Amino acid sequence: MSSKNDIKKEDTENSEVLSPKNPDANFLDQTLRPTTWAEYIGQKNIKENLKILLTAASQRKHPPEHLLFYGPPGLGKTTLAHLIAKETSSQLKSTSGPAIEKVGDLASILTNLSPGDILFIDEIHRLNKAIEEVLYPAMESGNLDIIIGKGPSARTIQLDLPPFTLIAATTRIALLSAPLRSRFSGGVFRLEFYTNDEIEQIINRSAKILKVEIEKEAKEEIAKRSRFTPRTANYFLKRCRDLAQIRGEKLSKAMVMEALNLLGIDDVGLGASDRTLLETIENKFNGGPVGLNTLAAALSEEQATIEDVYEPYLLQLGFIERTSRGRVITDRARKHIGKKLLGLDLEK
Ligand code: ADP
Repeated sequence: MSSKNDIKKEDTENSEVLSPKNPDANFLDQTLRPTTWAEYIGQKNIKENLKILLTAASQRKHPPEHLLFYGPPGLGKTTLAHLIAKETSSQLKSTSGPAIEKVGDLASILTNLSPGDILFIDEIHRLNKAIEEVLYPAMESGNLDIIIGKGPSARTIQLDLPPFTLIAATTRIALLSAPLRSRFSGGVFRLEFYTNDEIEQIINRSAKILKVEIEKEAKEEIAKRSRFTPRTANYFLKRCRDLAQIRGEKLSKAMVMEALNLLGIDDVGLGASDRTLLETIENKFNGGPVGLNTLAAALSEEQATIEDVYEPYLLQLGFIERTSRGRVITDRARKHIGKKLLGLDLEK
């Protein structure tokens, strides 16, 4: 397998503070990644379904059927794939949609699988159509159809693949074609944002692993600003830990506020880019509606970044609405950015 097919955790979170391009992010993911069902907090419904599916598959002595996880970045899709591999004592081979550039790349990955392996494809929505079509028979009947030669002399050879499970993740389910979606016979699962209580449990566990002494109110404050997202909670905890470590003190609420305010994270977890987005809709487009491409151009951002990174949380907060004519800012968001302009949020 070529090196570009090796694990590459490219992330769509590219807001400056939450950027996983930050060298900490991957390391952090690995040390704090839950390795048992008990450590994997929340997503109760998905966990229950998966446990049944895995047990039934193991009783039949067959690899589990193919699974698709979708939802905003940082909610635990990759972690679930690793957990399933561990639970089923399978080897996990990991790649991503953009890393598979040619049909040959996929063919090489598939033919290198051993029986019972789990193949994890992150960002599967970025797989191109020609490659997708090679995946269909591989998922359905374990065959790999390869065309050799061109024109009239072209012929297809069919290879039998070892039984394997494909686990795919995407932040953009809408971009997946219906035929591809329908081949995830084990199920298509949507990961939900976490509750504050669940995020606090995650912070508790991470604080223990990182050996951070943390006050209860400090935990609550990090949770409140964590965008209901475990990866963000872990990232914030680590930044706050830095401050506590330098001061040689227990992590307090005041210290959390200081560290996160310094990072430009406000009392509901919005960063500078989120606020710019809201202010742009409000000030440049009279509160909306404004179409996604116009908004993206005004912000010099990719449309995908707006849809994947900023919008899910803003929608969850009820700060923006999607209408057929475009994005609209809500009164709740107006109040929030108004408060920010008065500098009040930092006192909260
Ligand atoms: P995604 O693949 O959805 O972008 P990840 O699986 O990489 O997200 O999760 C990011 C990090 O968040 C993980 O490394 C882990 O530390 C933490 N995390 C995610 N989900 C959970 C969970 N349910 N319980 C505890 N920690 C979690």
